[in-house]
Amino acid sequence: MATLKYSRQRESIKEFLMTRKDHPTADVVYENMKRIYPNISLGTVYRNLSLLADIGEIRKLPSFGGVDHFDGRIEQHSHFMCNKCCKVIDMESENLDHLLEDAGKDFNGEISDYSVRFFGICEDCLKTENN
Ligand SMILES: [Zn+2]
Ligand SMILES: [Zn+2]
Repeated sequence: MATLKYSRQRESIKEFLMTRKDHPTADVVYENMKRIYPNISLGTVYRNLSLLADIGEIRKLPSFGGVDHFDGRIEQHSHFMCNKCCKVIDMESENLDHLLEDAGKDFNGEISDYSVRFFGICEDCLKTENN
């Protein structure tokens, strides 16, 4: 694999994602990067996000609720999206590794990864509903 040229913008994008737990979209990353690099374009941000995801430094959650979200947390974990406020939350207490085994039973290829998405109403929205 060719060594990537160091890019300060790409480093900043990665650092920004590491500080966020809310799985921002490219637009949100762009808005925040513009404060540091006023001339940065959405295209540059998007390209760097895709690149970082390709080399495994971040995770891309493609088309989650119709739009790509990005995650600075790269170890295996699942996500929940609220149908009301569209926020994407990490699911902590679960072990879905059996999914890999089950999926592999009648499958002759090689499975290396999986991604699970849960949908429903988040805690905050439930509270507002019940008030
Ligand atoms: Zn919600
Ligand atoms: Zn996540």
